[in-house]
Amino acid sequence: MQMLHALIAAPSVSSVSPQFDQSNRAVIELLATWLEGMGFRSEILPLPQQPDKFDLIATLGSGPDGLVLAGHTDTVPYDAEGWRHDPFTLSEADNRLYGLGTSDMKSFFALAIEAARRFRAEDLRAPLILVATADEESSMEGALELVRVGRPHGRYAVIGEPTNLKPVRMHKGILMEAIRLHGRSGHSSDPSLGVNALESMHKVIGALLSLRAELQAKYQHPGFAVPVPTMNFGHIHGGDNPNRICADCELHIDLRPLPGMDIDELRNLLKQRTAAALAGSELRWEVTPLFCGTPAMETPANSPLVLAAEQLTGAGAGAAAFGTEGPYFRELGMDALILGPGDIAQAHQPNEYLALERINPMVELLSQLIERFCVRATPS
Ligand SMILES: [Zn+2]
Repeated sequence: MQMLHALIAAPSVSSVSPQFDQSNRAVIELLATWLEGMGFRSEILPLPQQPDKFDLIATLGSGPDGLVLAGHTDTVPYDAEGWRHDPFTLSEADNRLYGLGTSDMKSFFALAIEAARRFRAEDLRAPLILVATADEESSMEGALELVRVGRPHGRYAVIGEPTNLKPVRMHKGILMEAIRLHGRSGHSSDPSLGVNALESMHKVIGALLSLRAELQAKYQHPGFAVPVPTMNFGHIHGGDNPNRICADCELHIDLRPLPGMDIDELRNLLKQRTAAALAGSELRWEVTPLFCGTPAMETPANSPLVLAAEQLTGAGAGAAAFGTEGPYFRELGMDALILGPGDIAQAHQPNEYLALERINPMVELLSQLIERFCVRATPS
């Protein structure tokens, strides 16, 4: 509880808006200090583009394989007026612990450390690695940096995002893209005086709707509540006055690809279809990402980590409706599982809390996984 208190009291908001963005140094330093005190070897990696943001890799034991317990140190921004308690003071009420990051997901670190305390390096046949990243809520740069440096080496990764103590082995990816058309304005009475971006956007939307239908016919996954990839048309703006030819039009779409769909390929398809819809027009256009995008993730149902978590929780591994750093741990060669004590329903909003009843089961669960994958180190 003291650890969680300190973690919540260390602000670490990450945001694409610079006025909200903060360093995560304090959280990383707390974790490194505690883990070093327990015999972990810790390594702090600054992000190349943001020298005040850090990843932490802390390792107990050595050798190949091993278990990674991973999470992000940052939180989303908060609106103070919505909170009944100070978001940076851990407050207990109604059998809940309130505070910014209690559910998503600083608590996981405190509970992972509590579980790790039960083991000594000499007990471990495979390493136990605690990983804390920066900027999951904004740019994913912390996880991307791990991929760039090719670390950590582990065989299995548990990412403690809020899943109500139920294992999650897959989620869709997320892309948000802007399509901008630039034509030329002119007097509405004579179409030849301009190039109408709004009319052309109509063609682009038609082409994208066809693309959506094709993708949904081609890709399906029964493991998801919405079993097809989605494309949402979420924002459009163009023109100003009815008597002016619309010069510029901008559309924002959100795509949720299924596992097995490549993000770069999808982006190319968007460009190809936009180009085809605008063939022969004088318009200039661009298709640009609104953020780097998150790949989809799927860890095989028969992975020893999935099977162990299913057995220990009594719940079948399902799908999450949100993106995580999981796909980057997959890229590092690990079986990744999302499994944490919080509830996504409490995340990203005022009065975020962790139910007290989640604490002991999570510590117990993590201890069992450490026992299985680091002490016995024989997948069963
Ligand atoms: Zn999170």
